[in-house]
Amino acid sequence: MHERGLIAGGEGNVSVRLSPTRLLVTPSGVNKGFLRPSDLVVTDLMGRPDVRASKVSSEVRLHLAAYSVRPDIGAVVHAHPPTAVAFTLAGLSLDQRLVPESVVALGIIPTAAYATPSTDDLADGVRRLLLEHDVVMMERHGSVCVGSTVMAAYDRLESLEHTARISFLARSLGSPQPLPAEEVARLHRLASVQGGARRPQAASDPDASALVDEVLSRVLDAMKKGG
Ligand SMILES: [Zn+2]
Repeated sequence: MHERGLIAGGEGNVSVRLSPTRLLVTPSGVNKGFLRPSDLVVTDLMGRPDVRASKVSSEVRLHLAAYSVRPDIGAVVHAHPPTAVAFTLAGLSLDQRLVPESVVALGIIPTAAYATPSTDDLADGVRRLLLEHDVVMMERHGSVCVGSTVMAAYDRLESLEHTARISFLARSLGSPQPLPAEEVARLHRLASVQGGARRPQAASDPDASALVDEVLSRVLDAMKKGG
């Protein structure tokens, strides 16, 4: 994250589920580019360190919120990816649906409304969105990416910033058009089969997908006829 400019100074934090009751979390106030293995902190599911003197990340609440609603995940990565954060500052959604790979890998990317960093308010907003998404942006702040492993979560972070950068470049060159709705629905189905990004339950349910497709095609027909 440090090498790729996705965090700076003491920013960002990473955690891994070690066992059903133990987490491994990065420490507070340490530059993650110069982290040593001995700096990492083992905590319980309330974020309390095993060794009292250890200072666990100030944003540990975000991680605890994720593990509390997602028994399927093994890792959480929080960063401040600059292009993706800039989109939230400009009031632009990252749910642009421009590039098929990012639709498959990242799914829909929601943005949690602004809340003060390291508070329960912020964690609560993110918790709700993580129920149905693997990547969540926090307005004016950063990203939370989850995955079955730390590399799976990290890959989502890299893809998120890469997608934001492509969107930014495309917007500065012209007016990029989103993929057609039926193609996005097809990509979501593909992602369900390939075990891609998590998405709202309705979209991964074959019956619901068929219904969505039918409604979309009727809407498109009506638009063609009605102009
Ligand atoms: Zn942060």
